Amino acid sequence: MLDVMPTVPTQALIGGEWLNAESGRRFDVRDPATGNVIASVSDCGEVETLAAIAAADAALAAWSAEPASGRARILRRWADQMIERADELAWTLTRENGKPLAEARGEVLYGASYLHWFSEEATRVYGDVIPAPGSDRRIIVTKSPVGVCAAITPWNFPNAMLIRKAAAALAAGCTLVAKPAAETPLSALLAARIGMEAGLPAGVFNVVPGTDAAEIGRVLTSSDIVRKLSFTGSTGVGRKLIAQCAPTVKRLSMELGGNAPFIVFDDADLDAALDGLMASKFRNAGQTCVCANRVYVQDGVIGEFAERLAKRVATLNVGPGDRSGTEIGPLISEAAFAKVERMVSDALARGGRVLTGGAKHPAGELFYQPTVIDGVTADMDVMRDEIFGPVAPVAGFATEAEAIQMANETEYGLAAYVYTRDLGRAWRVGDALAHGMVGINEGVLSSPAAPFGGVKQSGFGREGSRYGLDDYLDVKYMLMGGLSA
Ligand code: NAP
Repeated sequence: MLDVMPTVPTQALIGGEWLNAESGRRFDVRDPATGNVIASVSDCGEVETLAAIAAADAALAAWSAEPASGRARILRRWADQMIERADELAWTLTRENGKPLAEARGEVLYGASYLHWFSEEATRVYGDVIPAPGSDRRIIVTKSPVGVCAAITPWNFPNAMLIRKAAAALAAGCTLVAKPAAETPLSALLAARIGMEAGLPAGVFNVVPGTDAAEIGRVLTSSDIVRKLSFTGSTGVGRKLIAQCAPTVKRLSMELGGNAPFIVFDDADLDAALDGLMASKFRNAGQTCVCANRVYVQDGVIGEFAERLAKRVATLNVGPGDRSGTEIGPLISEAAFAKVERMVSDALARGGRVLTGGAKHPAGELFYQPTVIDGVTADMDVMRDEIFGPVAPVAGFATEAEAIQMANETEYGLAAYVYTRDLGRAWRVGDALAHGMVGINEGVLSSPAAPFGGVKQSGFGREGSRYGLDDYLDVKYMLMGGLSA
């Protein structure tokens, strides 16, 4: 492992060149564990975003014409070099996001796994020949890249959320303009530099960091050249971007917020359920879109489960991400910290009971104690909204039907988790859950081989798997006639 912050690019990457914002403006990136400034980054706006779109447009013809095997070779090299330099990338990520180094390293490898996956999928963009209504004709289906794409990504997985979009887009033959979150631009810029060193042609992958997200978003969404936007972030911002993309009728992928139910039936393997919940809920200090948000435990085991959960949560090691043994880092910002405090207060005011935690942690300004609250009810904020913090609210239920009804009582539909040893129940409940991804006896479900994505107000489109490539491909139908002798 490294023990110093690596040298990281701090300018925009546009058309293969590292450029300062024309305005000369820069913004500070802070370590959330200490509040210290760790870098000063070019603050891009309209001029740079337009330049990046033009660069992506200029690079499109050659990149999309490159044989898939050629694109695949570059993506594979990018992945291999990310893996070789995983320590450097992980350090950067921990510094700007706060997550423990081991998790940051895991995220980098996870991001690289999408480059590997899509480097292979790139060579399997098959078309189709469909029987035509007349014997003198043939229906032929081909797939072509959508064109110039834009990606807007959040701070909670600053490497993986961007790389899994870039991997699919570039594999399909599209070019990309990316806007990383202002809190965490360094991971994106370092990954981009490694991509350039791995052989990405100029303009294929462009990064415009900046603090005026609305302005960069406006330029990307209003552009006629940009044919698709892939967004990962909150449902509120997603709604705005969907509306902004309407006038130019862009393709969209929306990976939005979640409110995942985690259901434990009486017959579950409680050890496995506890392991699954710890992994699902407390990764990245609870700041993941698929993390268990509402824990529902059947009446027969809720007492034992909540007690054992609280004991395990109380032992979690809280501290800066670069300290050996840390399991829970800081929250990303003062606003995130205040939101968690507010939600816990709301739960307590309405009759919830803290089993462990429930307050600020002495490790620093943005550290919150890992917390378990029982006696929660559906009207509490912790059950209605994404907590995005290390807080597990536990509620009881009596029947399978009740669990399904409670789990689906949300406008979100990203991930859900079910623990049961009854195979019939696993299928029934899995089928009935209105969520895009269901983990059955598993608390971590993301993998490049699987279609990641939500339903309802958690969004649409899929990332990873063969479905993920389709999001960057247009289907064309050609009718070939005049075949009769
Ligand atoms: P956010 O506020 O929506 O921000 C996400 C990205 O959008 C950032 O790059 C942000 O830029 C940018 N942005 C904000 N306002 C914008 C605007 N008006 N126009 C264009 N871009 C804008 O979300 P967040 O708080 O960073 O991330 C957490 C959310 O992401 C949670 O809801 C979580 O569930 C969701 N998420 C979903 C998935 C998934 O796959 N479904 C994965 C991870 C996270 P700035 O940072 O510069 O403001």
